[in-house]
Amino acid sequence: AAAGEVALDVREVTKRFKGLVALDKVSLTVPTGQIRGVVGPNGSGKTTLFNVVSGFYDPTEGSVELAGRGATGLAPYRLSLRGVARTFQNLRLFEDLSVRENLLLGLDRTRTTWIWRYAVLPWKVLGYERTLHRRTAELIERFGLSEVADAEPRSLPYGIQRRIELARAMAMSPSLLLLDEPAAGLNGEEVRQLADIVRSIRDSGVTVIIIEHNMGLVMSLCDQVTVLSSGRVIADGPPAEVAVHPDVVAAYLGD
Ligand code: ADP
Repeated sequence: AAAGEVALDVREVTKRFKGLVALDKVSLTVPTGQIRGVVGPNGSGKTTLFNVVSGFYDPTEGSVELAGRGATGLAPYRLSLRGVARTFQNLRLFEDLSVRENLLLGLDRTRTTWIWRYAVLPWKVLGYERTLHRRTAELIERFGLSEVADAEPRSLPYGIQRRIELARAMAMSPSLLLLDEPAAGLNGEEVRQLADIVRSIRDSGVTVIIIEHNMGLVMSLCDQVTVLSSGRVIADGPPAEVAVHPDVVAAYLGD
């Protein structure tokens, strides 16, 4: 991606649930290739923002653009075709399938070009299957899952399960990756490994937005941090500046 491109532009998004205003005219612009942190006290609207960007909620007002094209209110599957992938606070893996099968199911097989290429030319199906297995093997290698590829996720340590979820999100070959508290429940060493993985994902050209409570991780990993409080953006800037912003300090002390 060329310098100066915008991966995500959220403009004045408001999300109301009956009387409750979960997001109040939230705007943020995320340049391509950035690792953006989204922080804020519980209930400040972070997950609602992810749900709007990934199509799980329609915004009540405002607009969302992906790479300069309108994406407001699109269904999750259409946004995933536009390159948006996410992980969830609570793991959502298929517990009865192996790690390999979880990744295979996560692979993007829905792009129309693929469907046409392989459905119209049936003799290519074998090549298609080979491609899926090759891409799965690449993910297993890249995320250090070789030794556990045939195990069921539930039999594995929690830190590995988190890594499988990240690998599965990357199976979509996203351009925008949304991570909802990826370090929750990880030990110090696992958090360092996670930071390395997220940097390598960014270095491969993917824009990453990360909701995270671990401030050490946010400070060391993020290029820019957006702070939400009561559904509003109260600060936005480099991590070191945001951390000492008086409104941010007040919001956290009030939490
Ligand atoms: P955070 O992720 O920062 O903890 P959330 O985005 O989960 O905050 O929630 C922001 C506010 O919106 C909270 O008051 C929450 O109760 C409310 N909220 C979120 N989702 C819903 C929903 N589906 N229905 C009603 N209220 C919701």
